[in-house]
Amino acid sequence: MLTVETDVVAVEERLRSGQLVCPGCAGVLAGWGRARARTVRGPDSPVRMVPRRSRCTGCRATHVLLPVVVLVRRADTAAVIGAALAAKATGVGHRRIAALLARPPETVRGWLRRFAARVDGVRAVFTRWCRALASDPVLPGPAGSAWADAIAALTAAAAALATRFSVVEVPVWQVAAAVSAGRLLLPGWPALTGRG
Ligand SMILES: [Zn+2]
Repeated sequence: MLTVETDVVAVEERLRSGQLVCPGCAGVLAGWGRARARTVRGPDSPVRMVPRRSRCTGCRATHVLLPVVVLVRRADTAAVIGAALAAKATGVGHRRIAALLARPPETVRGWLRRFAARVDGVRAVFTRWCRALASDPVLPGPAGSAWADAIAALTAAAAALATRFSVVEVPVWQVAAAVSAGRLLLPGWPALTGRG
């Protein structure tokens, strides 16, 4: 599994020109059909997608190319889940967040529990990205809680990315999906990112 941009034309171009690299062996990935269709719930309406699949020309492993608008094994888009995580940082409870997003309270509570267990790791990972992206990084100060610090670091990393590539804005939760390879709420992340 690999995260890619939402622009399918750009993804095809990167596949064609050998710019996508196997996460397993660093070989070149080539197009290899499509993964099964899936529908995720966006902020307003369902989003249907048929992710591209790729195959490594070196080790022959196949990898689904997941657009950065989604997270692995989540039925809601990264933007929806991110809105819940950001609301929690301002002290809003899970029932209120669920009502605001029109999602079941248990679903929202599940996201919040997953994130709560990794706020320090999230802050560390995105602070590292801030430093990597900017020669003179603007790192956020204490935001009032470990949770808010994590969101602040994530937001700062997205801003650093936008500055680095001279674009007006990079969607924060797409950055979260890209940096975590879609694993933002999966067990084992971000601990595994420290490897190698
Ligand atoms: Zn490979």
